[in-house]
Amino acid sequence: VVELKNIHKWFGDLHVLKGIDLTIRENEVVVIIGPSGSGKSTLLRCINFLEIPQKGSISMNGRVIHAKKHDINAVRRDVGMVFQHFHLFPHKTVLGNVIEGPTQVKGIPKAKAEKEGLELLEKVGLSDKAEAYPSMLSGGQKQRVAIARALSMNPGVMLFDEPTSALDPELVGEVINVMADLAKDGMTMAVVTHEIWFAKEAAHRVVVMDEGQIIEEGPPEVIFSDPKEERTRQFLQQVM
Ligand code: ATP
Ligand code: MG
Repeated sequence: VVELKNIHKWFGDLHVLKGIDLTIRENEVVVIIGPSGSGKSTLLRCINFLEIPQKGSISMNGRVIHAKKHDINAVRRDVGMVFQHFHLFPHKTVLGNVIEGPTQVKGIPKAKAEKEGLELLEKVGLSDKAEAYPSMLSGGQKQRVAIARALSMNPGVMLFDEPTSALDPELVGEVINVMADLAKDGMTMAVVTHEIWFAKEAAHRVVVMDEGQIIEEGPPEVIFSDPKEERTRQFLQQVM
C-alpha cells in the first residue's frame, strides 16, 4: 500500500535520509530499528508528510502523492500516527478525543462517532474510561487512547514512533498487546520500537536503519539471530 522510492531528506546541510526504498504491503507489519539519529522518525514523518522529502517519491495504493495540500490531507486521513508522547486534548474527555477526527474532519454525526468511539475504546480495553479526562489516566492508558483516536479515522496504515519509550516499564506491555492485537487483525503497520519481543511476535519484516540508509532487512527470526551486518549485530547487542 505504501511505496517509498529513493527518498532523500536534508535538514539544512544534514543529509538524514539517503535514498530509502521501502514498500509496506497490505496487512504487513514492518518494524524499523536502528541507532538514535539514524533517521527512523524522519522516515515515518515523511510517510504522512509531516516532513517533505526533497527527493524521491511516495505512493499510496499505487498513486504517487504530491506535496500539495489536497494530496497531503488525503494521505493524513488514511495514515494514523501514534507518537512517543500522546498529544491528547487535555480539556476533552477520552471519548471526546476519540471522536474529534471523525466529527471534525470527516463530518460524521456525533452519535454515530460516539458509538464507533466506544467500540474502539473497548478494543483498547478502556470502555470504562470514556468520560475520564487525560490527566486522570496512566501513561499506558493515554497511549491506548491515542491509538483509539488514530484508529477512529479508519486508516489504511498505522505508523507508530516509539509508542512505549516514554512509559514506565510496567506499562509497556498493555500498549504492546493492543498493537499486537491490531497486527493480528491484519492492520498494515510500520512500527519504530526497541521492544524486540513485539517485533518477534508481530513483525513480518524487520528493517534496520543506520545513518539514513536501510542496511538490511528480513524476517525477525533472521535479523535477530543471524544478521548479516556487523552494525546490526552491534545495535542488537545494546537493545536485546
Ligand atoms: P531516535 O532513535 O533518537 O528517535 P531517529 O532514528 O528517530 O532517532 P531522527 O529523529 O529521524 O532519528 O533524526 C535523524 C537526524 O535528523 C538526527 O541527526 C536529528 O538531529 C536530525 N533531525 C531530525 N529532525 C530535525 C529537524 N526538524 N531539524 C533539524 N534536524 C533534524
Ligand atoms: Mg526517533
